[in-house]
Amino acid sequence: MSAGRTFKRGGVHPPGEKHRTAAVAVEDAPLPERLVVPVSQHIGAPARPVVKKGDRVLAGQVLAEAVGFVSVPVHAPTSGTVRRVDVAPHPMGTPQPAIEIEADGDDAWAEPLEPIPAPEAADPSVLRRRIQEAGIVGLGGATFPTHVKLSPPPEATIDAVILNGVECEPYLTADHRLMLEAAGEILAGLQIVLHLFGLERGWVGIEENKPDAIAEMGRRAGDGGWAEVVPLEIKYPQGAEKQLIQAVLGREVPSGALPMAVGAVVQNVATAAAIHAAVVRGRPLVERVVTVTGPGVREPKNLRFRVGTPVRHLVDRCGGLTGDVAKVVLGGPMMGLAQHTLDVPAIKGTSGVLCLTRDRVRTAPAGPCLRCGRCVDACPMGLEPTGIAAAIGADLVEEADRYHALDCIECGSCAYVCPAFIPLVQSIRYAKGRVLSWRRKRGR
Ligand code: SF4
Ligand code: SF4
Repeated sequence: MSAGRTFKRGGVHPPGEKHRTAAVAVEDAPLPERLVVPVSQHIGAPARPVVKKGDRVLAGQVLAEAVGFVSVPVHAPTSGTVRRVDVAPHPMGTPQPAIEIEADGDDAWAEPLEPIPAPEAADPSVLRRRIQEAGIVGLGGATFPTHVKLSPPPEATIDAVILNGVECEPYLTADHRLMLEAAGEILAGLQIVLHLFGLERGWVGIEENKPDAIAEMGRRAGDGGWAEVVPLEIKYPQGAEKQLIQAVLGREVPSGALPMAVGAVVQNVATAAAIHAAVVRGRPLVERVVTVTGPGVREPKNLRFRVGTPVRHLVDRCGGLTGDVAKVVLGGPMMGLAQHTLDVPAIKGTSGVLCLTRDRVRTAPAGPCLRCGRCVDACPMGLEPTGIAAAIGADLVEEADRYHALDCIECGSCAYVCPAFIPLVQSIRYAKGRVLSWRRKRGR
């Protein structure tokens, strides 16, 4: 019986599959010869290129600048020459504008942003600006610009900051390794975020399948009580923001509202480490850790790679694909995106490269709904996935809205348990798009 806290409604228990890489220390991936840096690696306006073909660039130099508040710049991941500024394959599926760099192998760095060695004495507005200019986005996969999340409107009162070390997606261990190998940087990032809100105490939520990370983060936080490490029950999607807030604080974020509605801000542990590097060392976000794993890759590893590195290069570093690989997913198996080619770049939001063999991929065709209700029981948001899918299938957009389609966090729990293999998430994602445009047309 678990002693860990958890969320109240729904959730599923897929096999963890983390054994391949949980004990494998992070290794630096070698620099590739060419890197492709998309100008859109975040939610919000794509960055605007400020370099052109033929330009020489240094690592950390701005390649494309932020366009407005909900946007971040992208930086050169290494030194070299700009070969192309053009559309290129993107992990989201549709080709997008990107800057291709031919690396010179020197990995020479531009001057860092001016370090802020004592962030606890810095003005919060200076720190927020720094987090934007360093190109920091949510590294848990959401890629929302971090400075925006850390800038709630004046009427919002934030009294709780939670670091998300849950990593509930099966197979992935990048955050786990980071908590073991860089606990000090993560906690220093938490201190910066606490300072932004004038708070003295924060939380770190970690699933109980990472007892070594719970121990290490607790040890590094010390006895002062300023950072409480909270062991959480192993249940998917424990790491989803609203579920994490409920598990740690016992607060329920209302339908349609953001975490700030209950006074909470959540940051992924890797994002916290990136905040620390940007503020204290003046280092822009040009690298992250990814788990390359699954039965379809020969030597699963946790790799630190430069943004823009081709996925093929990372897979090759892990001994290449096995002969019976059937599917490569960027991210985890529940929320990741299947790729048609390995010639896409790994970017800021790439937490996993999951290589699945035929026996791990569902191939059965979808059948009719059996009205078993399993999807309803599994939904952590208390939705009726089958109702939303049926409504949008019949083109009843208003009804899909009445079913609260927009509350869906696309966690995939409903599709995971569906015995008829109905692609519920795709239907609901489509429904969300239709509901949003329907609402916009009505000025809602
Ligand atoms: S994908 Fe959406 S509808 Fe399905 S279980 Fe998750 S939140 Fe519920
Ligand atoms: S789990 Fe699948 S079969 Fe069962 S009610 Fe939901 S959609 Fe229908």
